[in-house]
Parts: sequence; C-alpha cells; structure tokens
Amino acid sequence: MAELTLDSVTKRFDDVVAVDGVSVDIEDGEFLVLVGPSGCGKSTTLRMIAGLESISEGDIRLGTTSLSGKRPKERDIAMVFQSYALYPHMSVRQNMSFGLEESTDLSKDAIRGQVDEAAAMLDIDELLERKPGELSGGQQQRVALGRAIVREPEVFLMDEPLSNLDAKLRAQMRTELQRIQEDLDTTTVYVTHDQTEAMTMGDRIAILDGGQLQQVGTPLEVYHKPANRFVAGFIGEPSMNFFEMEVQGDRIVGDDFAYPLSDETREAVGDASHVTLGIRPEDIEVVSEATDSHDFETVVDVVEPMGNENNVYLSFSPEEEHSFVATVGGMRSVEPGQPVVARFSEDAIHIFDSETGMALR
Ligand code: ATP
Repeated sequence: MAELTLDSVTKRFDDVVAVDGVSVDIEDGEFLVLVGPSGCGKSTTLRMIAGLESISEGDIRLGTTSLSGKRPKERDIAMVFQSYALYPHMSVRQNMSFGLEESTDLSKDAIRGQVDEAAAMLDIDELLERKPGELSGGQQQRVALGRAIVREPEVFLMDEPLSNLDAKLRAQMRTELQRIQEDLDTTTVYVTHDQTEAMTMGDRIAILDGGQLQQVGTPLEVYHKPANRFVAGFIGEPSMNFFEMEVQGDRIVGDDFAYPLSDETREAVGDASHVTLGIRPEDIEVVSEATDSHDFETVVDVVEPMGNENNVYLSFSPEEEHSFVATVGGMRSVEPGQPVVARFSEDAIHIFDSETGMALR
C-alpha cells in the first residue's frame, strides 16, 4: 500500500517556520495537488517527503513505515523538478536508465525494456538517442517524467513540472499527465501555485498558506465550500468578491449596501459582530430591474470581453472606481457607464467571520 501520511509535520529554518504542523493522508493511487502562494511551504513539504530536507517535528509514513532516517535513495519515491534536471552529456535513453542502473540489479535487457515502455507511453520513443540540448522544453519535460516512471516508484513527487512550458503545451501536458497517473495508479503529490492546474488535475487539493494547511478537499468542495476567506479568495478566477459588513439585527450593513438575512443565515452568523460577505463573479446576476431585497443598483465601469462571456466590473456610484466583478455569460452586452442591477441571491453568498476569516456559511 502506498498511502502517504504527513503527521503534524513542521519545518523550521532558524526562526522561519516554513511548514507548520501539516497533517494529511494521501490515499493509495491518489493525485493530491499542493497549492498556495509563493513562499507558503509547498516545495519544503515536497522536499521533506523526498528526504532532501530533514523534518523539525512530526513524521512522514509510507504505508505503516516511517520515512524518517531513510535517505532519499532508500525511499521508494521519484521526484520530477521544474528544472527537469537532465544530464546534458547523456542521451535520453541514458538519462532514463541511469537511476535504474544505480539503484537496482535489473539486467541491461530488463532496463532497456522498461525505458522503451516508458518512452512509448510518453511518445518520446523517437528521441531516445538524442541529447537533452537537442530537445524542445516540452520534450525535455517528458524525459524528466520518463526517468521517474521507469523507476516504478510507490510515490511520484512533482514540483511545478509544467511551469517552464508555454500555455498551450502546459494545457496539453496537464491532461497527459493525468492520463499517465491514472494508468499507472501511482500515489502522486503535485505542487503548483497555479489554481487552474490544481482545480483541473487533483483528485483532492491541499491549500497551504504561511506554512499552515488551510483546507483539503476535492476541487468542487474547496470551490463551493471554502473553509475560510483565504481559500475562498485563492481558488477561482476572477477571485471571489468580498465586502466588509457589520451585523445589525437581522441584516448585515456595509459602506454601499445593506443585505437582509434569512433566519437560517442569521443563525449561522451567530455572535459575530463583523462579517465578510463573499460572492463569486459568476454567481452575480446582472438584471435590468430591481425586484428583490438582494438586488442593488450599480454602474458598469469596465467590460472585459472573454470570448463567450464578459467580466463586468461594477461600482455602486459613477464617481467610484469599480468595487466588484460579475461574469456575465452569453452575448448580453453592457456598456461602461450603463446603470444595471446586480443580484446577490442568498443561496450564492458566503459569509466569513471578519476577525478569524472562518466560514460561517
Ligand atoms: P515558491 O512557490 O515560491 O517556490 P514555496 O511555497 O515552495 O514557494 P518554500 O520554498 O517551501 O515555499 O519556502 C517556504 C518558506 O521557507 C519561505 O519563507 C522560504 O523563504 C523559507 N525557506 C525555504 N528554504 C529555506 C532555506 N534553505 N533556508 C531558510 N529559509 C528557507
């Protein structure tokens, strides 16, 4: 069983706490994406799993076996780096077989067979005699992946493996990597700071901020039920809109509008005195007439056409710069300066405690 367990893992560099008490169980065969802003501790977490960095506190286990004290080579784990880290003087075949020759007593023929198989899977069988310098970035990335695959490890670790590729190739490799991971069914931890990559690739996503785990869940869970304001703002593009509000009786009141709460939502708000109302751009309806207490008169500031939809930046008065964004689908056209009504239906809003950032509903 290649279940990977991080148990209260902490990493300190002098007085910097890079990773702070992270616990997560990664199931056998699961594709877990570790995501978060720059400096949140993603690479350090991966490097501790690989054994390239020591652990200050906590434990990492593969199945029931603790990895602490095991050197990188003794761990049944293969890592793919952003930089590919290929040997320039070796051919593609040598790059892929080198690790196997070093760490196993497989025969030359067996190694040859494994390399051929991985190369076919990655569609690089025509390139085996070339040197890395004679390959495109995308091809080099496949070789780096091939080198990990031939080892048939229990766990793949990938640190932003697609970030040096252009957007089109990245999208293509994204689906290919998923296919390969599904075929091989190898437990994978994949680091990225790109939330689109996280949302499209992961069975589950683990979101880190400041070294602390914020939430672990399926892409749909973290999108629809963010545990806190950080996750809500990090996942989704354009980002969720936030409004600071004061709780007054059965409504919440902000600088620009007051929002009445149903009994159920009011109950969820509890004792909080200040809350943050969050609403995703695609959950804001833009209508022509206010008919509901959740409808607000606004003015179009900027329209950003996105092809099949528009990002419409809105403000509450013509003098103000836009304060929030709505994504409006279809061919509906609105013009800057045009008054429109924005509808924040109660089903779609999120409410966070302003003090703690925790989701209240
Ligand atoms: P990025 O997306 O920019 O690569 P990251 O999420 O991978 O960032 P880490 O590289 O894990 O973040 O770094 C986490 C924190 O630990 C940062 O504050 C970083 O400066 C610090 N850090 C990392 N390595 C060291 C080191 N060897 N010595 C001191 N501090 C370090």
